[in-house]
Amino acid sequence: MQEELFKNIISHSKEYGFIFPGSEIYDGLGAVYDYGQNGVELKNNLRQYWWVAMTRWHENIAGIDAAILMHPTTWKASGHVDAFNDPLIDNKDSKKRYRADVLIEEFLAGIENKIEKEIEKSQKKFENFNRELFVSTNKRVLELREKHHAFHSRFKKAMEENNLAELRQIIVDAEIVCPISGSRNWTEVRQFNLMFSTRLGSVSSEADEIYLRPETAQGIFVNFLNVQKSGRMKVPFGIAQTGKAFRNEIVARQFIFRMREFEQMEMQFFVRPGTEMEWYEYWKDNRLKWHLAMGIPADHYRFHDHTKLAHYANAACDIEFRFPFGFKELEGIHSRTDFDLSQHEKYSGKKLQYFDVELNKSYVPYVIETSVGLDRLFLAVLSASYKEEKLENNEERVVLNIPAPLAPFKAAVFPLVKKDGLPEKAEKIFKRLRKYVRCDFEEKDTVGRRYRRHDAIGTPFCITVDYDTMKDDTVTVRFRDTMEQKRMNIDEAVNFVIRESDLVIWYD
Ligand code: ATP
Repeated sequence: MQEELFKNIISHSKEYGFIFPGSEIYDGLGAVYDYGQNGVELKNNLRQYWWVAMTRWHENIAGIDAAILMHPTTWKASGHVDAFNDPLIDNKDSKKRYRADVLIEEFLAGIENKIEKEIEKSQKKFENFNRELFVSTNKRVLELREKHHAFHSRFKKAMEENNLAELRQIIVDAEIVCPISGSRNWTEVRQFNLMFSTRLGSVSSEADEIYLRPETAQGIFVNFLNVQKSGRMKVPFGIAQTGKAFRNEIVARQFIFRMREFEQMEMQFFVRPGTEMEWYEYWKDNRLKWHLAMGIPADHYRFHDHTKLAHYANAACDIEFRFPFGFKELEGIHSRTDFDLSQHEKYSGKKLQYFDVELNKSYVPYVIETSVGLDRLFLAVLSASYKEEKLENNEERVVLNIPAPLAPFKAAVFPLVKKDGLPEKAEKIFKRLRKYVRCDFEEKDTVGRRYRRHDAIGTPFCITVDYDTMKDDTVTVRFRDTMEQKRMNIDEAVNFVIRESDLVIWYD
């Protein structure tokens, strides 16, 4: 059911100009997507919402726009050259490549599913069903649980120890087959660096090798002092940036959830050492509130605290979102200590410190990072907004309940008919409104059809000019979600749309 829904969302995105497969006329390019005429608007609005929340609603956060190409030593210092790897394994028959850890995770998820199915089956059979009693006594469930536990602990240990041979052995012992060939003919597990490399200039030699950035954060770290000095920033302060990042993902799928070229919105918040946990809590709370302000129900979000921390982090969590394929990471919030700045000090030989007047000493600030994928956010909003509705008159409609400030069009203006001066009157309203918000003007087809088209792309308000408008300057405002219609004076309607489309309504 959910799978079906997800497929429908993907085809709807294409049909209505939100997302197209990249280079489609050449049969596409793996995990690369293009945003269409409506998609780009939604994406820009989401970016703008983030940008305004960071750089306007926080007086101590400055924005920057660093280059995608960075000095190659950056990635040595950050650890990406040596450690930004995924364990990969090939199936010798299908020649398909997989992430070894993902194959095992899917195998474990399969066992979890089986357990749930067993429970559901029995639940249906017995009226007085006691879940706990059933789980603790049912032989089949106990067996499955034991199997899950055994493989899960081996997997956890192998990942912690970076033990590639053991990862392969788990795949063999679990009898995992390639979904394409169905065979168990696996290669060794190897580490695969996820960075795309390219060459600088025209001469190709080792020394010229540079990388497309795999994250935007490093552009912030290398500019820490530039911004602090030129902006006379005082700790605590943050630097925010949005931009493209590139990762040569081995398993790239689930539509725009995991892409090879994607966009991140990252903010590094520099704090006095010792205060980082307070700020970590602040940002956890603040970021969740930011998501919730968009109006998607709270049960779509949950925190996932990391139990296994990167060696430089002293706290980390994800905000997970309920996508049509389950709860998955949407945003990461990490307390990264002074790791990044200290590494750049070491590799560049430059001091990256802050003189704290109150303490009368210099230190390398600690960093709290918030990092959200713009494309994942797009998918979150799109999938939560997509509704297939059955109407009273047995008609069906697809509607995107995108919040007004994010919607591609804020309003559409229609003349009821294409004569008697109605189009001219409607065009006047359209031209007035478009100075403030993005809106559409349509005069073809029945009004009902025009409503449906705009429901499908998420336009929150439709304004219709009819014969009464010619007499008393009132129009019909039709609301996308409830389909209710309200008569308003033209001025009132214009002001209403402008007000409802303003991001400020989410600011408390
Ligand atoms: P995952 O575990 O899903 O691979 P990650 O932990 O590697 O993600 P981070 O390095 O923390 O991700 O990146 C921060 C954010 O960037 C993620 O929360 C996600 O929203 C986004 N992101 C990361 N990789 C991709 C990708 N391949 N495609 C789209 N968005 C991505």
